[in-house]
Amino acid sequence: MVISMKPGATKDQIEHVCRRIEEFGYRVHSIRGDERVVIAAVGIGDVTHCLESLEAAPGVESAVRISAPYKFVSREYKKERTQIKVDGAEIGGEEFIVIAGPCSVENEKQILTTAAGVARAGAKLLRGGAFKPRTSPYDFQGLELEGLKLLRRAREETGLSIITEVMSDGDVGLVAEYADVLQIGARNMQNYALLKTLGKAGRPVMLKRGLSSTIKELLLAAEYVTSHGNPDVILCERGIRTFETATRNTFDIGAVPVLRELTHLPVVLDPAHATGKSSLIPPLARASVAVGADGLMVEVHPCPEEAFSDGAQSLTIEQFERMMQDLGPYLKIWKEERAAVAV
Ligand code: PEP
Ligand code: MN
Repeated sequence: MVISMKPGATKDQIEHVCRRIEEFGYRVHSIRGDERVVIAAVGIGDVTHCLESLEAAPGVESAVRISAPYKFVSREYKKERTQIKVDGAEIGGEEFIVIAGPCSVENEKQILTTAAGVARAGAKLLRGGAFKPRTSPYDFQGLELEGLKLLRRAREETGLSIITEVMSDGDVGLVAEYADVLQIGARNMQNYALLKTLGKAGRPVMLKRGLSSTIKELLLAAEYVTSHGNPDVILCERGIRTFETATRNTFDIGAVPVLRELTHLPVVLDPAHATGKSSLIPPLARASVAVGADGLMVEVHPCPEEAFSDGAQSLTIEQFERMMQDLGPYLKIWKEERAAVAV
């Protein structure tokens, strides 16, 4: 932390600030300039509480943090990248992972047809919501337990691993029985009771960036899960809310290199929820590979027109197959780059 005193701060005020810093367990280094005194607080302590206290102290102009507010998820804490094994797939490893499936599990035929189609085309995980966080309470809310059972059937038939959303801490145990990866939706990124429970869920978690969340807030949400005992967190950029209306959200693809600098956790991109429009997915899937993400999540439906949710952003199985074929040359370069980084 660096604390700048106001020009003209009194000796008593400066001494008081130094004492407070020490009470919080830090060492004090002060620098006397021509105009003002700047104090550095060094060590480990409750940074947030200390900063808030100092900002309220007389004579203080500003108190700012200089180290990251998260620890377990930071690259300083862990240099090697986190690789998360889910059955045959490894997220954050040597292979670009594609997750595909419908927005919602609707019925047996829909989920089994989609699962078979996306497995054939090269997806490693099947997605599908059984508990749906809908903006309107009148919209389809998901098949809940019935949906989880259908996902299990799809897993048995195709060998695909399952990722599905859990919306409340009370459902974590149930969803973890059926899912290989627990998805936390954008609307729940800051549901701290849920995040704490995930620490003990015994399953990897994919945490989606909140609708209006900063990258720092995303990393702090991941820190909740890791600091409560679960190191296996995948981050997912799914678009953020901006003034732009041409797309459902604004795809912050720049989050990928930013996150790769700040954290060792794998990053997956979701161009479907970012754009809301299926025609935009293939070009943004290419961009996702090129920007160095660890994987991609897309929505696929046998008949998007009939989808209970998110039909406009869902690819047909044929469109998904074509997208996967078109990604081939990009994935080859991705692999070469990964191998070069690993050397
Ligand atoms: C979803 O993946 O179906 C979903 C609801 O996404 P988000 O939480 O990103 O809106
Ligand atoms: Mn959806």
